[in-house]
Amino acid sequence: MADRRTIESSLSGSSMTGSRETFEYKPTAVMPDVKVVKIGGQSILDRGRAAVFPILDEIVAARKLGIQVVLLAGGGTRARHIYSLASELEMPTGVVATLGKYIPMQNARMLQMLLAKHGGIYMLPDDFEKLPLYLQMGCIPVMSGMPPFGYWEKREEGSRIPPPRTDAGVFLSAEFLGSPRAIFIKDEDGLYTDDPKKNPAATHIARISSKELIERNLPDVVLERVVVEYLPRAQWCKELQVVNGLKPGQVLAALKGEDVGTIIRA
Ligand code: ADP
Ligand code: MG
Repeated sequence: MADRRTIESSLSGSSMTGSRETFEYKPTAVMPDVKVVKIGGQSILDRGRAAVFPILDEIVAARKLGIQVVLLAGGGTRARHIYSLASELEMPTGVVATLGKYIPMQNARMLQMLLAKHGGIYMLPDDFEKLPLYLQMGCIPVMSGMPPFGYWEKREEGSRIPPPRTDAGVFLSAEFLGSPRAIFIKDEDGLYTDDPKKNPAATHIARISSKELIERNLPDVVLERVVVEYLPRAQWCKELQVVNGLKPGQVLAALKGEDVGTIIRA
């Protein structure tokens, strides 16, 4: 009953007057055993078959071991192209986000076709209710990593590009499902002190907290910065793992729960 009072007062806008302290956020862990995994757009998918096929083999191997995997696709170069063109044409952020969502969707559709013979099934965010069925049947659900904010996306100072893109969508999906660790498959061993492609002196960071990562204010990071800001507020998804999909065995190890790559914790 106390909860109901709190909800009513927050809906009526009086939550600022004190009822807030009584509210405890205790969401249900919907499917905590599911591994929520992103396949990078630019870092993996844009490299084509040589990068993608061995990763899919490891995901199928994990599925055969009984590990439940939900795969989310990144956008990559084609998404960056529409972001830069739409920004130059002065589209509002909501339009930029709406345009950008189609690329990860295309990537997800291709991944689904490649996984079809192993139970790959394409799904939309509205199909979360069907996940238990898909997973119990041994399927590998595939979806876009993009959060579905679209026209309602908020802007960031100084940019028209939506701050939460596919990394954020993967984290938010893991948090909604109650999965304790979101896995990001990219093309580096994880987080470095700087972009290793531009700075050969950058060194690897195996474990770091979100607080420390924000404080270090690195020149560039391997994930969308907004995800690192979300992390301390998570109820369930308290770790982000970044693994190198170009190194054989890393994806399967991560799916088995091993601490490979970098782990950023809340
Ligand atoms: P995705 O394909 O998932 O969108 P991105 O290409 O956006 O991935 O991000 C991964 C890339 O981030 C890596 O290929 C790497 O070159 C770059 N990067 C930038 N800063 C860092 C850092 N501090 N540590 C590791 N990689 C970094
Ligand atoms: Mg990216």
